[in-house]
Amino acid sequence: MSDVPYKLASRISHPENTIVKVKDVEVGGKKIVVMAGPCAVESEAQLFAAAKAVKEAGASVLRASAYKPRSSPYSFQGLGEDGLKLIKKAGQEFGLVTETEVVDTRDVTLVAGYVDVLRVGARNMQNFALLKEVGKAGKPAILKNGIASTIEEFLLAAEYIMSEGNPNVILCYRGIKSFEPKIRFPLDAAAIPLLKELTHLPVIADPSHSTGKQSLVGPVSKAAISAGADGLMIEVHPRPGEAKSDKAQQLLPAQFSKFMEELGPVARAVGREL
Ligand code: PEP
Ligand code: MN
Repeated sequence: MSDVPYKLASRISHPENTIVKVKDVEVGGKKIVVMAGPCAVESEAQLFAAAKAVKEAGASVLRASAYKPRSSPYSFQGLGEDGLKLIKKAGQEFGLVTETEVVDTRDVTLVAGYVDVLRVGARNMQNFALLKEVGKAGKPAILKNGIASTIEEFLLAAEYIMSEGNPNVILCYRGIKSFEPKIRFPLDAAAIPLLKELTHLPVIADPSHSTGKQSLVGPVSKAAISAGADGLMIEVHPRPGEAKSDKAQQLLPAQFSKFMEELGPVARAVGREL
C-alpha cells in the first residue's frame, strides 16, 4: 500500500480530504456541488437559457463545451473561442463558476483565460502532454476517467496534473465501456467509495455521459450521491431534441429542477447538503 505509484494523489501522502475551492464553490466539502449545462455551446440564446435554468434550480457551476472531441470528424466540433466567450459571459450574467473542456495542448492558455476550471475529457485522460499543460495552467482541473481505463491509470493521470504543481484536481467518474449496448458507459457505484479510499481528491460523477439516456440520469445520480460522490455533472439543454450533440441524455430545464428537488433528501440521508 505504501508503494502506490500515485504519490501526490494518494490518501497515504495526504490523509485529509482535499477541498477544491473555486470562487465561492467548494468541491469536496459537505455540500454536493452540481455542475450543469449543455453538452456544447451552440448559441448565446441556447447557453443563456440553460445557464438561467440551472442557476435557478440550484447548480453552482456552469458546464458547457466549446471544443468537442467527436467520434466522427464530420460531427459538430464546437464553436471554439466564440464559445469560450459565451461561457464567460454566461458565468458573469448568472453568477456561476464556469468550466469547459480543453482538448488540445495548444489551447490550454487560451481556455484558461476564459473559464474558472479546465476539464480533461475521457478521450484525453492519457494525453500526457495535455495533462502536463493543464498542470501548469494555474486553474483547478476536472479530470474524467478514460472509457477503458483502470482506477490506477485514472489516479496516475491525476498525478500527471498534480506533479506539474496543480493540487486542485477534481476526479469525475463517468463510467467505462462494457459489453452492454443499452447503457453507454456503465457507472460502477463501487468505484466512487474505492476512489475515495485511495485518494484525498474530490470525486464527482457524470450520470449524463454514463447512461446516455435522460430517464436514467436521475436514478444514477441518486446512486452516485448515496455512494459518496462530492458532486455531479449533468447535461441540461433548453431543447434537447435540437441539440447538436448528446440529444438523448440532456435534461429539459423543468426536468432538471425536479431532479434537484429529488436529490435533496438523498444528499441529507448520507449526511450531505445540496
Ligand atoms: C463532456 O463532458 O462534454 C464529455 C465529452 O464527456 P466525456 O469526456 O466523459 O465523454
Ligand atoms: Mn455531452
